[in-house]
Amino acid sequence: MVDEQYLKALENESSFLEPTQEILDEWLKQSNNYAKDFLKERQTDHSFGPDFSKISILEDYPFQESPRQLEELIPLLKKTVDEPGVRPSSPGHFGYIPGGGVYSSAIGDFIAAFTNNFAGMYFGSPGAVKLENMLIRWMIEMVGYPKSAFGNLPSGGSIANLIAITSARDAKKINSLNVRQSVIYLTHQTHHCVIKAAQIAGLRECIVRQIPVTAQFTMDTAALKSQIDQDKEEGLNPFIIVGSCGTTDTGAVDDFAAIGQIATESGCWFHIDAAYGGFYMLVQAMEDLFKGVELSDSIVMDPHKTLFLPYGSGAVLVKSGKHLLDAHHEVGNYLQDAFDNDTEISPSDASPELSKHFRGLRMWLPLQLHGVASFRATLEEKHVLTLYFHEEVKKLGFVVGPTPQLSVSIYRYDTGDLEIDNRLNLDLAIAIRENSKYFISTTTIDDKVWLRMAVVNFRTHLSHIKEYLGILKKETTTLLANAKIHS
Ligand SMILES: *Cc1c(COP(=O)(O)O)cnc(C)c1O
Repeated sequence: MVDEQYLKALENESSFLEPTQEILDEWLKQSNNYAKDFLKERQTDHSFGPDFSKISILEDYPFQESPRQLEELIPLLKKTVDEPGVRPSSPGHFGYIPGGGVYSSAIGDFIAAFTNNFAGMYFGSPGAVKLENMLIRWMIEMVGYPKSAFGNLPSGGSIANLIAITSARDAKKINSLNVRQSVIYLTHQTHHCVIKAAQIAGLRECIVRQIPVTAQFTMDTAALKSQIDQDKEEGLNPFIIVGSCGTTDTGAVDDFAAIGQIATESGCWFHIDAAYGGFYMLVQAMEDLFKGVELSDSIVMDPHKTLFLPYGSGAVLVKSGKHLLDAHHEVGNYLQDAFDNDTEISPSDASPELSKHFRGLRMWLPLQLHGVASFRATLEEKHVLTLYFHEEVKKLGFVVGPTPQLSVSIYRYDTGDLEIDNRLNLDLAIAIRENSKYFISTTTIDDKVWLRMAVVNFRTHLSHIKEYLGILKKETTTLLANAKIHS
């Protein structure tokens, strides 16, 4: 016999998962105040929190049987999570590829979470699937792929690359019999997640050719062509060429028209990693950069980079949607009710995921609420700001890298002594982090340390670049004076 009284007691306890209207109002009010404070402070606060010691306070809050109050937990989150570490949503974050965090996207996430529609499958939520597929088709049109293309909205660029590489593997029939003769072509500037993806996809044994780069850090297409010719002569199987649309180090954009032609001639799959640079296609003034992008077989772009969304949004498009589905479509009997009358392809047929966050809403809502023009303007502003910086930093005596194609500029102080200069530039990055609200990162290319200016955050404007230039000048003068004293 079921003890109904006991069951009733359990029901009482579980009803706490459904807050009363009063509690709900209180939570929303407190969250809203949290957001307002955060957004206000983010305009002016530092881009890096050097004190990591407070994270241990989290251990004073173990999971206990009884509930805690939100008003106690919000200050805890501010102290332990918001403060320490890099703050990608700050306007002064110029390191790596900065993040975004448009607020409208958070509302999309919020709605997606409390409605909790099943966005993995058309039958579960046809509206959610249609909405996501409209975003995919919007990007397909942007790239210039045909209608037979399809895509997916995974959590970020790494998973998007994995989905593309997996599709390429099956389309080109790479298997245990030919994997050791199959060749992957990329450059030393290709993002490491591409090789990671190849390894996860069972392609660890492929031959990897690092094609030399030009002075612009783009793939040397003549070298690519002769390497492929040589590999063919040796009886190898040229499999995939990975182009970059915005390398992480320097924002270099490869010559897609040239690579596309080589890929067609050699029968290679042509993949473009446009995780950072892809959405610059929205800027009309930059359209020449993207000539030939439509010749690729697959492309990855990150809305959580250049559409300024919070982390958790990538996108992959495959020109022949069939190849994407062939690599990711599988059926389970327990899903047999879900296959009737599908008019939209389900995300679960184009991705390793089944149940998933309704990620499309965090992208759809900002595009609707702000309009595409806001994104075009913001992207163009970042590009022009970078060109401005590139010119101004030369006037401070810095050596600069190639003219920025997107929104990364590299620069270094150069006295002619490689060892001294490398130390000096690394020290400059540290001094700027310690003595100002700005955060920059460095890279090493051909043994030279470079400072990087990556303008990708939507909150970064001319005033920030000007203020940073002043700080850079001051810190350089101080370091050079110290160097003189010590020499
Ligand atoms: C950021 C980036 C990636 C990785 O994407 P995640 O979203 O961080 O997983 C891959 N390639 C390039 C060029 C990138 O800039």
